[in-house]
Amino acid sequence: MDLFEHQAKELFAEYGVPVPSGKVAHTVDEARAIAAEFAAAGQPRVVVKAQVKTGGRGKAGGVRLADGPDDAAAKADQILGMDIKGHTVHKVLVEEASDIAQEYYLSFLLDRAGRQFMSICSVQGGMEIEEVAHSNPDAVARVAIDPLTGVDLAAATAIMRAGRLPEQAIAGAAELATRLWAVFTDEDATLVEVNPMILTADGRVVALDGKVTLDDNAAFRQEHDRFADPGSADPLEARAKAKHLNYVKLDGSVGIIGNGAGLVMSTLDVVAYAGEEFGGVRPANFLDIGGGASAEVMANGLDIVLSDPSVRSVLVNVFGGITSCDAVANGIVAAIGMLTERGEQVRRPIVVRLDGNNAEQGRQILSEAQIPVVEQVGTMDDAARRAAELASLAATGA
Ligand code: GDP
Ligand code: MN
Repeated sequence: MDLFEHQAKELFAEYGVPVPSGKVAHTVDEARAIAAEFAAAGQPRVVVKAQVKTGGRGKAGGVRLADGPDDAAAKADQILGMDIKGHTVHKVLVEEASDIAQEYYLSFLLDRAGRQFMSICSVQGGMEIEEVAHSNPDAVARVAIDPLTGVDLAAATAIMRAGRLPEQAIAGAAELATRLWAVFTDEDATLVEVNPMILTADGRVVALDGKVTLDDNAAFRQEHDRFADPGSADPLEARAKAKHLNYVKLDGSVGIIGNGAGLVMSTLDVVAYAGEEFGGVRPANFLDIGGGASAEVMANGLDIVLSDPSVRSVLVNVFGGITSCDAVANGIVAAIGMLTERGEQVRRPIVVRLDGNNAEQGRQILSEAQIPVVEQVGTMDDAARRAAELASLAATGA
């Protein structure tokens, strides 16, 4: 589960990570009232921040400085209801404005490849860390963390030096990092990111932004229900969940259906790679219909994937195992029949790659069914390429 910035900062504050003080507003009037409280306390300058679970809010105009309650209300009016990368803004955080001297980057995360924890730290914060890593890789330190010893003040200081933070920020940043590490471990997070972590004009180090991903597998031993946000679940994901489908919405245009999480994950990679040739075509979703997928599961899967208006082509990538390819092929034929019966027009192209157990029979069943939108391709790479090509052709209206 990802947290909103304001939730991340509430958590940070519980652990003594310095954050600006602020409150959440759902309406323009609430925003004005919060700014008025700050003004009454001698702090008229505030920042109004869109609360959406995506980055790049600043660039999108979702982070605005305001001078006094009326200005804060005006900024809140502009930000509430905004769409940022497909997320509608329903609430804003109204915070005391900070006087920024420098912006840094700090995160702790689970490094699955290295089977350990890692800290990423950079003197160049504020912008997206991927960009910094690309343009100035020397400015981004990746420091492995021994899970048994963790991050004490000495380790934290070493991380700050590796990130090339200036001398005057090291002590404050290291202190912040030890507290952030406590958030990371005690709350069972897989990511805590502070971008920017700032040095203020008066020499304090403060978390100006916060991104936290909690490990849902640890939910049983945590009290994270308070952070749940059912209203904001992606509607397609909610529908898929109701049908017990393992579906994750992504932002590309090639719908993906496969059997087995590993196969589907690699399908996403292969499609993204093949899509580069067609101007950056990318997968639209993750959907694993699992081992013994019936025609009904295939129909539900196709239904969900085709309900996504950004899907321009579909790739069904199946490796027959316990459920052999002939059963899957019958499932696809029946699924398209079911969808047609439900009154849904299946018009977008569906590329199918069948391999493994009874692949020949499966391919024959599909060929004989003569479904106009279904096209069979022999290998995973070629199928991914074809699906990406069809998506790009549909996009250009060709
Ligand atoms: P993001 O764009 O979604 O990552 O949102 P951030 O919370 O990181 O804010 C983006 C940028 O807005 C920061 O890097 C700062 O440069 C700027 N910003 C945010 N809060 C303040 C503030 O209190 N004072 C000033 N001067 N700038 C701020
Ligand atoms: Mn940020």
